[in-house]
Amino acid sequence: QLADIGVLGLAVMGANLARNAARKGFGVAVFNRNGARTDELINEHGGEGRFTPSKTIPEFVASIAKPRAIIIMVKAGQPVDDVIEELLPHLEVGDIIIDGGNSLYTDTNRRFHYLKDRDIKFIGMGVSGGEEGALEGPSMMPGGTREAYSRIEPIVTKMAAQVDGEPCCTYIGTEGSGHYVKMVHNGIEYADMQLITEAYDLFKTVYGLEAGAIADIFAEWNKGELNSYLIEITDAVLRKVDSTGKPLVDSIVDEAEQKGTGRWTAQSALDLGVPLTSITEAVFARALSGRRAQRAEAEKRFPHPATTKRTITQADIDAIRDALYASKIVAYAQGFEQLAVASQQFGWDLKLGDLATIWRGGCIIRARFLNRIREAYETGGAGDNLLLQDYFRDAVVQAEANWRKVVGLAIAEGIPVPAFASSIAYYDGLRRARGPANLLQGLRDYFGAHTYGRLDKPGKFHTRWSQDGSEIQA
Ligand code: NDP
Repeated sequence: QLADIGVLGLAVMGANLARNAARKGFGVAVFNRNGARTDELINEHGGEGRFTPSKTIPEFVASIAKPRAIIIMVKAGQPVDDVIEELLPHLEVGDIIIDGGNSLYTDTNRRFHYLKDRDIKFIGMGVSGGEEGALEGPSMMPGGTREAYSRIEPIVTKMAAQVDGEPCCTYIGTEGSGHYVKMVHNGIEYADMQLITEAYDLFKTVYGLEAGAIADIFAEWNKGELNSYLIEITDAVLRKVDSTGKPLVDSIVDEAEQKGTGRWTAQSALDLGVPLTSITEAVFARALSGRRAQRAEAEKRFPHPATTKRTITQADIDAIRDALYASKIVAYAQGFEQLAVASQQFGWDLKLGDLATIWRGGCIIRARFLNRIREAYETGGAGDNLLLQDYFRDAVVQAEANWRKVVGLAIAEGIPVPAFASSIAYYDGLRRARGPANLLQGLRDYFGAHTYGRLDKPGKFHTRWSQDGSEIQA
């Protein structure tokens, strides 16, 4: 019997997706360049379902029912192109290649059109949830043609996580939209994690709390509106004691690595002109963390602001929680605005409420909070910016005093809180009908004759600054 789907690339993600599909009753053809991985999968988990292992690409392709659907799960970048070229001679019109890796959306756009010209359908599918999600049910963001999606829909909607009876998988849009959405998801994940580390830093550095005590606070927060996977695992990571009997976190090197999706999100925001401050600050914070030698040197050369010894109170804990929650709302509002702008710019017709829906389970940013975002889009109240929607506006207004207090304290104490601070700066910039860019426009006109608009009359104007000082209509 021919397999329902093929999975090529059997490292941790591919192997787990293949097992997931097999456990759901689908026949799964499997192939990996290095055959040892295929053997390992079959030896260890072959009993979980109907697998058809192959040692060559022609054999692999021939073992899948037509039109063939092949998920490739290999290292992002050139390997994806290499695998596509290896598959092409063996595919037939109407077959579908699904790239489930973290590919850059512009690569997916290119591959989509390249394969379209060869009558092969291409789906760029973002998969979130890490190793465990791939096995137990990830959140999946497939982009490509609707027709191609219909072929795989019965399979992927069963493989995905389910929340309230709904699969965490839906058709996203054409071209590279699925990978774009996954990229912004990862960007939001960067901001979420940065906000968590800033809260941790304040508890540890300003209030002198031990990891275990901070874990207790996160465990408590996870019962309220902050309830989410990342808050839950923060508790677990802080609580972990290693073989020396000390908190593991205290021995982990403070240098954050990154694979690119956060950086790509920020780069796209710059291209689209979206003020994506939280995610971008999170990317920069990782970059600064990576300059460990420079930081060690700087610590010796610069004095630290005098700190007061503080004993934490419940009010302090609540203040940091409020700062985290308000900043989180800003990060999501910015991320969703970026999705809206990209959708318009690229003609993708993204359904933002659907994205909040499929992110409620399976993925790394899964959170109670996403129900609120979904509701905001369902009622049409989200408009251009989630912050303007009643629920989020009220939440931010309620948190505002504490948010200011925490950012003020952090600055006074010399603790960097770039995501908290940039979020409040964005909020303060947003909630003012008149900002200071009038001066900026004056400066631009002075040195570059870039012209400015006036509040009191229509049109564009230029002042002859270095001549007679008169104003002319441009
Ligand atoms: P890796 O990114 O580590 O990639 C390893 C796999 O790629 C192996 O199967 C390897 O084959 C294959 N490969 C590399 N180069 C080639 C090539 N030129 N031709 C054929 N096969 C090649 O694996 P992961 O499972 O971690 O991730 C797979 C994809 O999923 C990546 O795009 C990743 O970013 C994405 N992803 C990963 C997540 C995670 O939590 N790890 C979460 C979500 C997405 P071989 O064994 O022969 O070397």
